[in-house]
Amino acid sequence: MTLTVDRPVAADVPAYDVARVRRDFPILATRMNDRPLVYLDTAASAQKPAIVIDTLKRFYEQDYANIHRGVYDLSQRATAADDAARRKVQRFLGAADWREIVFTRNATEAINLVAASFLRPRLQAGDEVLVTEMEHHANIVPWQLAADAVGAKVVAAPVSDTGELSLDAFVDRITPRTRMIAVAWVSNVLGTVNPVHELVRIAHARDIPILIDAAQAVQHIPVDVQDLDADFLVFSGHKLYGPSGVGVLYGKATHLEAMPPYQGGGDMIDRVSFAGTTWNEIPFKFEAGTPDIAGIVALGAAIDYVEALGLEAIAAHESEVLAYATRAINQLPGVRIIGTAREKCSVLTFAMEGVHPQDIGALLDLDGIAVRTGHHCAMPLHERFGLAASARASIGLYTTHEDIDAFVASLRRVGEMLQ
Ligand code: PMP
Repeated sequence: MTLTVDRPVAADVPAYDVARVRRDFPILATRMNDRPLVYLDTAASAQKPAIVIDTLKRFYEQDYANIHRGVYDLSQRATAADDAARRKVQRFLGAADWREIVFTRNATEAINLVAASFLRPRLQAGDEVLVTEMEHHANIVPWQLAADAVGAKVVAAPVSDTGELSLDAFVDRITPRTRMIAVAWVSNVLGTVNPVHELVRIAHARDIPILIDAAQAVQHIPVDVQDLDADFLVFSGHKLYGPSGVGVLYGKATHLEAMPPYQGGGDMIDRVSFAGTTWNEIPFKFEAGTPDIAGIVALGAAIDYVEALGLEAIAAHESEVLAYATRAINQLPGVRIIGTAREKCSVLTFAMEGVHPQDIGALLDLDGIAVRTGHHCAMPLHERFGLAASARASIGLYTTHEDIDAFVASLRRVGEMLQ
C-alpha cells in the first residue's frame, strides 16, 4: 500500500512504522544473490517510493507537454504542474517568494551556477573563497574554476579528528580577501551536522555571502531559509526520494535579480534580436531549455511523501538506527569509524584494518548488501584522515535493524576472512 500524500498528519500519529514505510518502496522487495536487498547507499541516492514512480508515469500518460510554450490545454496543465511543484519546494524550504526557487539538474549544477554567475564577476586576483576540508567535490571544484579564471584561490577551514569544524579556526581563515563562503550542512562522509546558522551569522557579520550545500541535509533536517538567512542553498531531488535529473537552487531574490544568466537558450529570454537580447524574469532567467518537467513534478510528490511521514519522525528513526549501527560496528575488531561528531546524522564511514574498502564493497555485495566504497567525492577529506578510500553505510527512512544486523554479520565474515 502506498502512502496517501493528501492525508493530514495528525498530532497523534502512531509510532514510526518502518515495516509499513518499506512497503512504499517497490525496489526494497528485490532479491540480490538470492538474499533480500540490503540497501545502505541512500546518501549516494535514495530509493523511490511508489508515489514518486506513479507520479512520473501518470504525468507522462496524462499531462505531458512542454511548458510555457503552448496555449493548448495540455501544455497549460503541464505548466500548472511545474508551477505547483515550484511552490511546494518554496514551502518546503520556507522561502518568501516562489521566484527564489530555480530548478537545475542537481546540486552540482546549482553550485556551478552560483560560482559562474554570482561569484565570478565579483572575483579578482588574490581574492579567496572559503570552504571546509569536509566538502564534497561539488562544493570545491566549481569555486576553483571561478578562482582559477582570475588568479583567486580556494581556502579550506580545518576539520578536527572527530570530524567537526572549529569555529575559531573557521573564523581565522576569513581574511579581507574572502569573497564567498560555501559549506555543507551535513557531510556526506562524516555525517557531521555543521552549525550553519552560526556560520551564516559569522559570514554576514563580515558582509560575506554564504552558500549552504544542503544535499545531505534536506532529507533529515527541516529547513527554513528565511530563518537561516543564507544567500544560497542547494539540494538534489534524488537524495530526497525524488527522481534523478532535478535539483534546486534557492537564492535571495535580490541576488538572483542582479546576476547575469548562466546559460543561454529558450525560456530564459524576454526578447531576442541580433541587435541584443533581454532576459526573462527570475527564476526563468536561469532555466534555459526544456527542463526535466516530469522530474520536477515527481519531486513535488517526493516532498509530499517525506512531509506526510514528518521530517522529525524520519530523523528520530534514522538517528536510532545510526546509534544501533555505531554500537554494533564498534564491536568488530580493527574497524575505525571516520566521523564521530556530537551532531551527526545518517552515515557511517569506516576503515577496516588490513582490508581494502573495495574488497569490503565487493564481498558485501555477494550478500546482497549495497554500501559505497571509494573516496565518496571527498578526496581532500580522505587525505586529511590519511586514507585513500573508505567504506560507507548510509541510513535512510526505510533502514531497519535487520539491515544493520545483516551488514554487521557480513562485515564480521569479511574481517575473519581477510584480516
Ligand atoms: N554535496 C554533497 C554533500 C553531496 O553528498 C552530494 C552528492 N553526493 C553533492 C553535493 C552533489 O550532488 P549531485 O551529484 O546530486 O549534484
